[in-house]
Amino acid sequence: MEPKSILVTGASRGIGREIALKFAEGGYRVFLNCRTSASELEEVRHTISEKYRVPCETVLGDVGNSRDVASLFEQIYRTCDCLDVLVNNAGIAHIGLLMDMKDEEWKQILDTNLSSVFYCCRAAIPPMISRKCGRIINISSMWGTAGASCEAAYSASKAGVHGLTKAIAKELAPSNIQVNAIACGVIDTMMNGQLSDEERKGLEEEIPAGRYGTAAEIAKVVWDTAHAPEYLTGQIIGVDGGYL
Ligand code: NAP
Repeated sequence: MEPKSILVTGASRGIGREIALKFAEGGYRVFLNCRTSASELEEVRHTISEKYRVPCETVLGDVGNSRDVASLFEQIYRTCDCLDVLVNNAGIAHIGLLMDMKDEEWKQILDTNLSSVFYCCRAAIPPMISRKCGRIINISSMWGTAGASCEAAYSASKAGVHGLTKAIAKELAPSNIQVNAIACGVIDTMMNGQLSDEERKGLEEEIPAGRYGTAAEIAKVVWDTAHAPEYLTGQIIGVDGGYL
């Protein structure tokens, strides 16, 4: 029997890497994407092939660019007819005052964090509709719900992901395709790597759980969401150590 297939965008490190490993462990065929970190992505592919013995391919490309997304889905559809699970995880952060933000910076954040979800969903959905099954999971942020000072573009992009998630969940529920988002709190990845030890300590004190979350914890929630009853759709699932 053919294994189930998953595409994880932004899988070269951090949360995306852990999600890819989790689904490989569960027997999935894994398509791994990132934009620039080809050698890190190849390391993930190698680990998956050696450790879990499931089919695994890398599909490099900028998911914020519609032509790149069309070409990476062409590669995927040469190997499999339909994805069972699409995880829109690729994302970038930007810290600074809104009044100092350049047009290009705004555009890059919105393209990478929000338009990417549109491009990947548009390409993944048609075969899912034909088969009347599929799961789409968008990796979002608690700042999409609450808004963060000095992260306005990031917050706006993730709020957009929340709206898109709820809207397409309704559009696709009649086709038995479930769409949910995971609104992460502060997770221990390179995205927060620029914080000093002191800043990290201060931030940890603000989190009721008293610590950052781990990428493995998010991967477990993604796995559980992908295998939850079909009635779970259109939800923004908070995983933030009680922060919000
Ligand atoms: P990370 O460690 O910086 O990893 C980001 C991944 O996205 C990398 O694989 C990166 O690879 C890829 N990527 C970036 N731009 C891309 C593009 N245009 N096309 C394709 N891939 C791209 O970040 P992370 O913490 O794991 O974050 C993953 C997701 O979780 C993001 O959506 C982020 O917003 C969300 N999140 C994270 C936190 C947190 O505290 N860490 C909290 C809330 C939400 P390349 O650089 O090689 O392209």
